[in-house]
Amino acid sequence: MKAEDLRLDELVNFSEGALTPRGREVVLHSLHAFAQIRKDLIDTAGLEHARSILSRFGYFQGQADASDLMNNFKWDDKVELIRAGCKLHSLEGISRDIINSVEHNPGSQRFRMEISWYDSKEAQEHLYTIGSAAEPICWILTGYFTGFVSLSLGIDVYFIEQSCKAQGEKVCHAVGKDLASWGSEIKPYVDYFKTHDIKLRIEKLTDQLRQKSSLLRKYEKEIAALGTAAKPSFIEIHSKAYKQVLFVANKVARFDSTVLITGETGAGKEVLAKYIHQLSPRSKQTFVAVNCGALPESLLESELFGHKAGSFTGAVKDRVGLFEKADKGTIFLDEIGDISEAMQLKILRVLQEREIMRVGESTARKVDIRIIAATNKDLQDMIAHGRFREDLYYRLSVMELRVPALRERKEDILPLTRFFIDRMSRKLHIRNLHIDSSCIDYLQDYGWPGNVRELENVIERAAILSSDGNILPQHLPPPLVNTSKKSFDAVLHANPSLDDMEQAYIERILNLTGGNKSKAARILRIDVSTLWRKLKSDSGQHRKSNT
Ligand SMILES: [Zn+2]
Repeated sequence: MKAEDLRLDELVNFSEGALTPRGREVVLHSLHAFAQIRKDLIDTAGLEHARSILSRFGYFQGQADASDLMNNFKWDDKVELIRAGCKLHSLEGISRDIINSVEHNPGSQRFRMEISWYDSKEAQEHLYTIGSAAEPICWILTGYFTGFVSLSLGIDVYFIEQSCKAQGEKVCHAVGKDLASWGSEIKPYVDYFKTHDIKLRIEKLTDQLRQKSSLLRKYEKEIAALGTAAKPSFIEIHSKAYKQVLFVANKVARFDSTVLITGETGAGKEVLAKYIHQLSPRSKQTFVAVNCGALPESLLESELFGHKAGSFTGAVKDRVGLFEKADKGTIFLDEIGDISEAMQLKILRVLQEREIMRVGESTARKVDIRIIAATNKDLQDMIAHGRFREDLYYRLSVMELRVPALRERKEDILPLTRFFIDRMSRKLHIRNLHIDSSCIDYLQDYGWPGNVRELENVIERAAILSSDGNILPQHLPPPLVNTSKKSFDAVLHANPSLDDMEQAYIERILNLTGGNKSKAARILRIDVSTLWRKLKSDSGQHRKSNT
């Protein structure tokens, strides 16, 4: 059969609900609707991916038509089949196809064809929705002929559109050749017929999305943890120094790393250790705190490791040690700098092996614990003097946190004071317990060698001494009030002499000017020499009273 024998009315069965060319089901689309889809594809997937999708669409259509024509008719030769394809395609209305030349040698597997597409509806769509194009854009047409001829000949043939109506040309013009004849020129075009690049891109995007989502979930968890676990155990922190410590504590809490907390006595090392435990994945498990410095070595060993009955005098029953009690949780070893060398070695083994041996036993038991240690000692100095094992130090100080002394974070004194007043009010059942503002300067000027613990004790003492719940300077312990930097308000409360009042006032103004005497003299409306004299007489008085 020859291509010219093909007739539309014989090919297609037109009846309501069925448009079936030779039994193949076809539907009609509005050209404008398709043009819109084309634009959406370009806008959402990008030009390259839209081109690939539409090329594939044409490719499948071409293969379907080729298969249809091959199955239903017997063609004189392959060229007639291809001519019939052009005719069918023209009948379908996408374009009017005119073959300019076709060369096919079945023996050599070579193929070459030049074709013109008149009235390309695809170019029309493009011009209608997008506008004129810089390059040929009849991707469906190119795909169609690539699919049709490849299936018809059983070899890979590719069509490239050379010029296009969408570029302002009268007709679209394309060339089709077998893969070998194209050579390297065809390489970038072949990709448009491959699906895996789209699939790969979607997979890549899905993967990125999955990673982003999991990161988002992680952040949400972190925020939730910060919002719930951190707040109840910590009071307002105003100082930069302590905020920094908490920031690092928040980070390290989530990991199982050993933490060494350093800082002066009473600075709040245990509070920080508990805080880390509460933020950690072990928060639902036990937190065990041991003061290693408070126990003699033999007792400490049995306390930490446990013992077997009869292992020493007084060991009546088997005893589970604190390491075992803290299993799955956190153990806080306070005053780690106070333990003996033998105990240092035993703790080093726990850190290395994550197992313990009860006193009097010879089998090791596994323990899953997080260790947080603390000390007020200078461990580096102890190492230098051979009093602390260097290997233990490095095992303990995977992350080292230094709790600043209270005097280094004066901004926190007031919020801490209010926190303890609230606590004492409940503990001592003193309603309306409050601190008089005249006390605040004393609290802030004091050096607090005993740190937060000393502050808590001072507040408890003052609360007990205050008769009506109003804490006044006279309720504070003498070392606090007897500082040279007495506040003026505080002096007024103590029924001072005129001299004392004058001195306190001068000191207040000097504080205000940061010790600048000429500025202070100006405010006091006296000469600088008079100010000097008054200050000298004050120190003279102090010498007198001190002797
Ligand atoms: Zn075109």
